[in-house]
Amino acid sequence: MPYAYDAQNIFARILRGEIPNKTVLETAHTLAFHDIQPQAPVHVLVIPKGAYVSYDHFASEATDAEIVDFNRTVAEVCRMTGVHLGSGEGFRAITNAGAHGVQEVPHYHLHILGGRPLGRMLARSES
Ligand code: AMP
Repeated sequence: MPYAYDAQNIFARILRGEIPNKTVLETAHTLAFHDIQPQAPVHVLVIPKGAYVSYDHFASEATDAEIVDFNRTVAEVCRMTGVHLGSGEGFRAITNAGAHGVQEVPHYHLHILGGRPLGRMLARSES
């Protein structure tokens, strides 16, 4: 079954310029911007400009150029925000998908979180 993309989701509207964002980096295929409700001192969302719902959708259907551009942008965001392991203290990259992943915005996005110790990835009780 094909992935259903909602063109009215808030990140699609950001990409169309209908809603402002605090851009960290923009490239040919990718946009990185600050999360509106940061959960850590560094909380950046990296999104493809293409209409992809989730990580698996992007990974299976994006072009090689989009995938390379996305990953290079993630690396550059980590460098720009100071969390990369070259000189920083590290980060967590999270992507939520669908109901069980508790995805709020149905446009693929990778959260880059850092700037403080982040604790365990999941509470043990949630297993
Ligand atoms: P998720 O639950 O993985 O779908 O995460 C959606 C994220 O988008 C949340 O962390 C929100 O704070 C963030 N968010 C929602 N609206 C905006 C917006 N207009 N600008 C930036 N971040 C947003």
